[in-house]
Amino acid sequence: MKSIVVANWKMHPATFKEAKQLFEATKKAAEKAKGVSVIVAPPAIYLREIVKLYKGRRVAFAMQDGNAEAVGACTGEISIAQGKDSKAGYVIIAHAERRSMGETNDGARRKVSAALNSKMTPVLCVGEASRDGTGEHFNFIKEQLRIGLADVTAPKVSQVIIAYEPVWAIGATRPMEAHDMHEMAIFIRKSIVETHGKDGMNMKILYGGSIDETNAAGMLRDGDIAGFLVGRASTEATKCAALIHSLSEA
Ligand code: PEP
Repeated sequence: MKSIVVANWKMHPATFKEAKQLFEATKKAAEKAKGVSVIVAPPAIYLREIVKLYKGRRVAFAMQDGNAEAVGACTGEISIAQGKDSKAGYVIIAHAERRSMGETNDGARRKVSAALNSKMTPVLCVGEASRDGTGEHFNFIKEQLRIGLADVTAPKVSQVIIAYEPVWAIGATRPMEAHDMHEMAIFIRKSIVETHGKDGMNMKILYGGSIDETNAAGMLRDGDIAGFLVGRASTEATKCAALIHSLSEA
């Protein structure tokens, strides 16, 4: 089965020298694997130099976040337009760690639009902090999707990738169950069909939360997903290579 792996390096590694080594290992694994598209999301300060190291077609690049305004008086910010100029083709939007630092659904909505206007693929992250057995988390996800996609026209909606990352499974000891992911994937598509029509059926959905080489293939097979948004396992060269290898088509 074809799959996508978004390697979200977060604020790792500490030096550009280590970033080059991690990229080398990731690139090698990506070139060897069949049917796996790897999207590397390095810290923004490494992005342009990492892109320059790559001439192939198996790896693409993402920003980890980006400001919706192209330029402005925003000390410390980096715009989506600047990421595009550095050759990022994707932008992760409203990751749980950004939401915990104040990102809102409305902010996500503006960033999704800015990414599409820059001809980049937005990877819109959604996910509930906890589940209480009442099913309330479905309403929470529906609202994140409704607002995050509010400015996207129906014909463009399938250009957005949805990354479902239950916050309770990020940085945890194991991922959610694949059959629960499958249920959520159906719910996400159904919610988007309600707001954007039938193209919602074609949404690419990624899962994120404690994925590594031991559990990725099973989740891909049974979770009704197109691939993964990966944190920890993407920042260690051997683990990242093993994960990519585990998804390679036989
Ligand atoms: C993440 O932060 O998006 C994530 C999935 O992290 P981890 O893989 O470390 O759980």
